Amino acid sequence: MEKVNILGVKVDMVNISQSAEIIMKFLEEDGLKRVFTPNSEIIMRAYKDPEFARALNKADLLTADGIGVVYASKMLGKPIKERAAGFDIAKEVLKRIAKTGHKLYLFGAKPGVAEEAKEKMIKDYPGINIVGTHNGYFKSKDVPGIIDDINNSGAELLFVCLGAPAQEKWIDENADKLKVKVAMGIGGSLDVFAGKVERAPEFYCKHGLEWFYRLKKEPWRAKRVAALPKFAATVLIKGR
Ligand code: UDP
Repeated sequence: MEKVNILGVKVDMVNISQSAEIIMKFLEEDGLKRVFTPNSEIIMRAYKDPEFARALNKADLLTADGIGVVYASKMLGKPIKERAAGFDIAKEVLKRIAKTGHKLYLFGAKPGVAEEAKEKMIKDYPGINIVGTHNGYFKSKDVPGIIDDINNSGAELLFVCLGAPAQEKWIDENADKLKVKVAMGIGGSLDVFAGKVERAPEFYCKHGLEWFYRLKKEPWRAKRVAALPKFAATVLIKGR
């Protein structure tokens, strides 16, 4: 797979359906595969935190979530064609595993949200096999029990929705104990699947304006959005 190195983070140059196909292949292989989908904010964080950068770069598939990362790849002369957000990849994977019967476990978000996401997924993706759920608000002493629950469920695919960088760190810390084939860190996706948070309408996503839509809905994100030009400037100045 061709990659573009953005401030030390190696991003795969793949689109949404290619990513879903790769994950389906991972489900047939031995060992745990990690899938991360950082946005520009997370890449900036990795740029400043080498340990986090190492955890991110252990990904077997790492896609560009956010228009900032897509622009950065263009600035570096290795253009990624489209954004491959975790939520969109997850939807494509759900379509496929609803047919194959691969077992899915939903981990993360506030109590009750993963269960609601499960109910919605069962309606929207008939045939989907969801073997367990757990919320994302736990103490470190609870982790062995959560891992046992995931392993005992026989899950092959695990959605880890704790937000970045917590989810990437959690996967890195527990990779050797997990028996799943694929662990995907996909942030706030369970909130969207559960219908708690609305995704930006397609127009905004298509035109790279999702950040603008989210800013209108959640003005407290202003600080996060303001980080975008800084990210672009750092990519320009520091290159890869
Ligand atoms: N979350 C969690 N445990 C925590 C903190 C956050 O499960 O200790 C969940 C939170 O409920 C939300 C998700 O992680 O569902 C983070 O969503 P957000 O949209 O903020 O993250 P992003 O997708 O931007 O990484």
